[in-house]
Amino acid sequence: MSSGKLLMVGAGLSGAVIGRYLAEQGYDISIVDARDHIAGNCYSKRDADTGVMVHVYGPHIFHTDDEEVWNYVNGFETFMPYKNRVKTTSGGAVYSLPVNLHTINQFYGKTMRPDEARAFIEEQADTTITEPQTFEDQALRFVGPDLYKAFFKGYTQKQWGCSPTELPASILKRLPVRFNYDDNYFFHRFQGMPENGYTVMVERILDHPNITVHLNTRFTRDQAAEYDHVFYSGPLDGWFDFDLGRLGYRTLDFERFTFEGDYQGCAVMNYGEEEVPFTRITEHKHFAPWESHEGSVCYREFSRAAEPDDIPYYPIRQVKEKELLGRYVERAAQTDGVTFVGRLGTYRYLDMDVTIREALDTARAFLDAREAGTKMPAFAVQPL
Ligand SMILES: Cc1cc2nc3c(=O)[nH]c(=O)nc-3n(C[C@H](O)[C@H](O)[C@H](O)COP(=O)(O)OP(=O)(O)OC[C@H]3O[C@@H](n4cnc5c(N)ncnc54)[C@H](O)[C@@H]3O)c2cc1C
Repeated sequence: MSSGKLLMVGAGLSGAVIGRYLAEQGYDISIVDARDHIAGNCYSKRDADTGVMVHVYGPHIFHTDDEEVWNYVNGFETFMPYKNRVKTTSGGAVYSLPVNLHTINQFYGKTMRPDEARAFIEEQADTTITEPQTFEDQALRFVGPDLYKAFFKGYTQKQWGCSPTELPASILKRLPVRFNYDDNYFFHRFQGMPENGYTVMVERILDHPNITVHLNTRFTRDQAAEYDHVFYSGPLDGWFDFDLGRLGYRTLDFERFTFEGDYQGCAVMNYGEEEVPFTRITEHKHFAPWESHEGSVCYREFSRAAEPDDIPYYPIRQVKEKELLGRYVERAAQTDGVTFVGRLGTYRYLDMDVTIREALDTARAFLDAREAGTKMPAFAVQPL
């Protein structure tokens, strides 16, 4: 058994999983979070009026190919079967996403089989674009103008707050179309929803005699001196008081509304048109199809650039941001006693399963470093 005092900044999945792993090895773990609750952005809470489990910071669907991670989460909570199926409203009609054979046949009023649809879409594609530079080039080259305008252009514009002509082609890496009727949003082997919500799962991860959680407690750097090591899942630039400037994020505004009955008949309805100011409406009771509720809680989701006081959601990671990130990474590498973890600490979009995988690997790397008497690096996973 090891001993020592460790601090986790953040009681989200990163802090909870690293904390639990090292608590089990005998370390004394303190976890601080500035918010008044655990579970970070995965936080879910039952609505008092309707009884619906609400994903407070936006809907979270657990999906993974990583068996160890799947077994890990199932060790703390029962996962109920759930398949994410997304619809979109565009041009006055409702279609299924991701764009699949049903979408294509419905959109063009045809009854094509897979090979016919593939050949048809190839005919639509703009083959004059040989070296796509932008998102728009790439989409036009893959699917042509009709599908691009209906399903990609407006949504992308709203999501990123700029024209798809200003976004790099790399955002759309492969053909975003399926030539069968599979409308399961994720390809992963394991997919599900925690029966009692993510907060209960994180509560159980944190339930260990060596772990103490302090909520409503904002970390300041002078607290680090009291600990043998700090795992910091706050914003990387925040550690340095933003003194080189702020790393850019998109934030989300959720316009919450309730409804008696079933508002839209599905969990996620996207809105593809630029004229509709929101990107999607999520209806939270449909994320728990094994429950039944009369009332309904929905979120209309708006995306915009994050200001300093907003919750940072999606790292922008374009050329300018990566250049600044590089400068912070250099400074972090010269800092002792702290490891930057999680989506904010490494300025990357991370799904929950990747967050847990990295947290487990980070905790193991820490134990290895202690055993070898070497320095625990500032990053267990390089942000760039
Ligand atoms: C809108 C949205 C939807 C998502 N949907 C999915 C999905 O469907 N499936 C999926 O797998 N993943 C999804 N994710 C990703 C998921 O939210 C992350 O994987 C997960 O939250 C990362 O956990 P974390 O602990 O690294 O960060 P966080 O959950 O952000 O936790 C960090 C914690 O640190 C605290 N903190 C920060 N700075 C300080 C400080 N100075 N002092 C004290 N506390 C501090 C914060 O309050 C926060 O609670 C989604 C993310 C977003 C934004």
